[in-house]
Amino acid sequence: MVAGKRVLIAGAGIGGLTAALALLRRGFDVEVYEQAASLGEIGAGFQVGANASRVLFSLGLEEQIRSVYALPAGKEVRLWNSGQTWKLFDLGDSSVERYGFPYFMVHRADLHAILVDAVRALKADAIHLNSRITGYENAGDGAVLLLEDGRRVTGEVVVGADGVHSALRREMFGASDPSFTGCVAWRGLVPADRLPQHLLRPVGTNWIGPGGHIVHYLLRRGEIFNFVAVVERDDWTVESWTERGSADECARDFAGWHDDVQTIIGELDAPYKWALLGREPMMRWSVGNATLLGDACHPTLPFLAQGAGMAIEDGLVLARCLEAYDDVPTALAAYEGARIDRTSRVVRGSAENGRRFHNNTLSDTAQAQHYVDVEWQEKKVEERYDWLFRYDATNVSIDAPRVRETA
Ligand SMILES: Cc1cc2nc3c(=O)[nH]c(=O)nc-3n(C[C@H](O)[C@H](O)[C@H](O)COP(=O)(O)OP(=O)(O)OC[C@H]3O[C@@H](n4cnc5c(N)ncnc54)[C@H](O)[C@@H]3O)c2cc1C
Repeated sequence: MVAGKRVLIAGAGIGGLTAALALLRRGFDVEVYEQAASLGEIGAGFQVGANASRVLFSLGLEEQIRSVYALPAGKEVRLWNSGQTWKLFDLGDSSVERYGFPYFMVHRADLHAILVDAVRALKADAIHLNSRITGYENAGDGAVLLLEDGRRVTGEVVVGADGVHSALRREMFGASDPSFTGCVAWRGLVPADRLPQHLLRPVGTNWIGPGGHIVHYLLRRGEIFNFVAVVERDDWTVESWTERGSADECARDFAGWHDDVQTIIGELDAPYKWALLGREPMMRWSVGNATLLGDACHPTLPFLAQGAGMAIEDGLVLARCLEAYDDVPTALAAYEGARIDRTSRVVRGSAENGRRFHNNTLSDTAQAQHYVDVEWQEKKVEERYDWLFRYDATNVSIDAPRVRETA
């Protein structure tokens, strides 16, 4: 029974806001507590697969998203030194034909703003800024969210959507023990009109090479070029969206790569760098009336481009479970039951893709041809991606496996 149930969400990122919207649309009362002083997202893009666009469209956001997205016709793989190109798979119409929904690229700030507006349209004062969460307490039939400024907010459910460094995860399960992967991700944006035409085709491009790989694609109706480059190096271990590097440093990491790569790096105004840390999937996300979603419970390497997609799926499945089961721990057990296997598989698949993209065989051009032919053959590609896009969070089974003991 939904009436009067109050859900307290820590974090107004993509995951927290999707959950808030899905819950508000079902009649829950929702409060979202965000540590930042203003709402916004960093300058970077997301790839959004059919599995996540299905959820976003089901939440009534199709028209707003279509006005800002870029629709790739397909994806391709390119070899780091020669630039040789292979088709990876078709997107565009074929994603809609196969999965019913598009695969699109979107500026993070655009998607974030669409979610903020949709949440506020249903509850104008749902999002509280300058509100850093420090912990929670389970209390009888409900839970209490503890804020740094001393506020204690009570509700029936607490949701930690507070990202990879989640304070609620730490409170619930203790400090995590991430391991540095030995990889650093560079990212940056370039206004599309600063790049040559041949780099502006509407395809997602994945350069692969020994010790690194690069992904680039267009955003915002094709006006912005998004660049993410991952390199194996062990001298940078800060996991943050806001640490700047320089184009020269980025160029040094990709010395010897194709001229197209050098052209793009030369146009990056302010590249940022992020150390990629690996974490084992968690087998439990909930304690009593509190649970986690998104990067807070399944942080992943970005090599399947599904981190935000998983957070979006979580938000909807959590709302469906809370609507279906009156007893909160039962609802949270159903939520975990529906989600943990899938998200663990994504986390493991992403790590595997990293090894595939950076393989040392690629340093030898003759062997590289054979390596790509084998690793990216149609059947293997389908095995790696089809299950990701086919998933239907709007309809996946949410049977309660059992009523679990609560801590
Ligand atoms: C280089 C790179 C490329 C990526 N590309 C893709 C891609 O193409 N497609 C894709 O699907 N995913 C991609 N991802 C993954 C994606 O960025 C994340 O999985 C996604 O942002 C997770 O969303 P979230 O809402 O769980 O967490 P976040 O986006 O981190 O949001 C957490 C929110 O909680 C707030 N917060 C944190 N702590 C507190 C606190 N104590 N109190 C209150 N508020 C708090 C934060 O300020 C933030 O607003 C990429 C990641 C990287 C590193």
